Amino acid sequence: MTRRADASPDRPAAGEDTIAAIATPLGEGGIGIVRVSGPEALTIATRLFRPSRRGPRQGRLESYRLRHGRVVTVGGETIDEALLAVMRRPRSYTREDVVEFQCHGGPMVVRRVLEEVLAAGAKLAQPGEFTKRAFLNGRLDLAEAEAVMAVIRARTEASLRAALENLGGRLSARVRALQERLTRAIAQVEAGVDFPDDEVDESPFGPLRGECEAIRGSLAELIASAHTGKILRQGLKVVLAGRPNVGKSSLLNALLREGRAIVTPVPGTTRDAIEETLDLRGVPVRLVDTAGLRATADPVESLGVERSREWLRAADIVLAVVDGSEGLHEEDRQLLRELRDGAIVLANKVDLLPGGRLPPELAAELVHHSGGRPLVAVSAATGEGLGSLEDELLRFVYAGGAEAPEEALVGSVRAEEALRRALGALDQAFATLSQGLPDDLAVVDLREAWGALGEVTGETVTEDILDRLFAEFCVGK
Ligand code: GDP
Repeated sequence: MTRRADASPDRPAAGEDTIAAIATPLGEGGIGIVRVSGPEALTIATRLFRPSRRGPRQGRLESYRLRHGRVVTVGGETIDEALLAVMRRPRSYTREDVVEFQCHGGPMVVRRVLEEVLAAGAKLAQPGEFTKRAFLNGRLDLAEAEAVMAVIRARTEASLRAALENLGGRLSARVRALQERLTRAIAQVEAGVDFPDDEVDESPFGPLRGECEAIRGSLAELIASAHTGKILRQGLKVVLAGRPNVGKSSLLNALLREGRAIVTPVPGTTRDAIEETLDLRGVPVRLVDTAGLRATADPVESLGVERSREWLRAADIVLAVVDGSEGLHEEDRQLLRELRDGAIVLANKVDLLPGGRLPPELAAELVHHSGGRPLVAVSAATGEGLGSLEDELLRFVYAGGAEAPEEALVGSVRAEEALRRALGALDQAFATLSQGLPDDLAVVDLREAWGALGEVTGETVTEDILDRLFAEFCVGK
């Protein structure tokens, strides 16, 4: 591992290249920023930036001072009027010397400035390379680095809040606390192994069993939060299902009116389904209507049915819609029978019913067929019941609660996998002990759990994992 957890402020990032990239989206905008980090950053800035006034200290580029001037080519020709921000190591994002040219936000301007910076000796940064350096120089741990990306990608309030918590080290703190408890447990078992007390012939692990079980419990709790974390990052995928004319498209539109449509970089509308992303009380929801995919004898159309099944399989939650103003059809019953756990049954069109209430026989039949899944009476036409539907959806997101728990949320699939491995190793330790095998074998498992936890924060992580993780970042971050 090359990480310098205690990188000294006085030690230059020896041997490192100076990297540069455009840090703002390419396009027309108020400003465009070219960011430079590394040992040559200040030299490059001195060569390419002509301040309009001399600074108080004879042109020395002072940290945290914004200077106005011109960006020039290596040959001295003006490229743009700009501000230069200087952040000297170690008080910068990467803990290296960082300069940022804040130019006019035109694609040509920022490209020209970048070209000059490269001509002056910097090399083009890889995606995520600034953040990777921040990690390697001990400025961020890996869970925090992942949170940086989650902050950038957040499209709703709850997603942003969860990402910011982890950027502030919430998940890391939880994981480190678990690691410390494991360390203490390991030390005690080892002490017992090394100095067996002849008078006590019970296993030194014995008294620690409770503590290890408690650690296991906390770990399992943390892993359970990955469900919410993933939904906040990727959106809750909700698929509307039901026979034609029960009101699926009407419900999709009604829900869109309730929430706020989110424009995502990935267009959701496919050939066989309509997908809309909306912000439902701060939670991103991807709503899919597979209308148009009908059960039919026509072989081409039945392809659509297969696709519709795939959508249902991929859903976090299926909204099984029936027409509450009619009795159940055989097709409805079949849909209800096929439902898996993540499903809510919607009886739509209750506005057509006297008093807006489902007839008792229909209600009873729905309860019977829906196997204990939540049942909500709604009207796409009047909006009735949509609030209850949202409550049910949020209960699924927050695993029972109505809003995000105070607890840390696991912030990436990678972290979740590492935590699951840690849990597996703990279980292995219990298995080892219950088979009556020696305690030091259990210690091997405990150490493995400790190492897996360390992967979350990046204390124990391979170069390969790092490369893959940072490759997902944007250039300039
Ligand atoms: P889909 O085929 O399941 O997508 O159904 P649509 O959304 O196209 O709706 C079928 C018909 O039912 C349309 O004429 C809608 O106006 C009507 N409809 C849908 N929802 C309601 C509702 O809640 N109340 C009433 N009265 N009509 C509805």
